Amino acid sequence: MSDRIVRTDEEWRRILTPEQYRVTREGGTECAFSGRLPEATEPGVFACVCCGQPLFRPEAKFDSGTGWPSFFRPVSADAIEERTDRSHGMVRIEVRCRRCEAHLGHVFPDGPPPTGRRFCINAVALVFRPDRAADGDAPAEQ
Ligand SMILES: [Zn+2]
Repeated sequence: MSDRIVRTDEEWRRILTPEQYRVTREGGTECAFSGRLPEATEPGVFACVCCGQPLFRPEAKFDSGTGWPSFFRPVSADAIEERTDRSHGMVRIEVRCRRCEAHLGHVFPDGPPPTGRRFCINAVALVFRPDRAADGDAPAEQ
């Protein structure tokens, strides 16, 4: 994709907090129940903390009881990239931001309807963006 964002590790370190860097750039996992997803108090979307790409809608969020934010589907299939992850002696499907390759979490086949999928995402990898901010600044004219 043409709008792919590529930065050096040095640049990411400057932009992100150490915990954000560890999870998204080094494929880490935050401790269960440690990450708090911002409350979606108005219409908006959970976006990539690294590049701002919209990833998950609050409407697709559900309580999985795992201690990580869980969604049954992404904003669109294009927003994310799924890769086979064979680390830790398991075969899992890793979920990355398609635009900047940030590690987000994993997807499992035990989610609720309608998709039956469970996107298990690190809260630290997401920021909430209200829809009203998506169109840029308010018009200067009255
Ligand atoms: Zn991203």
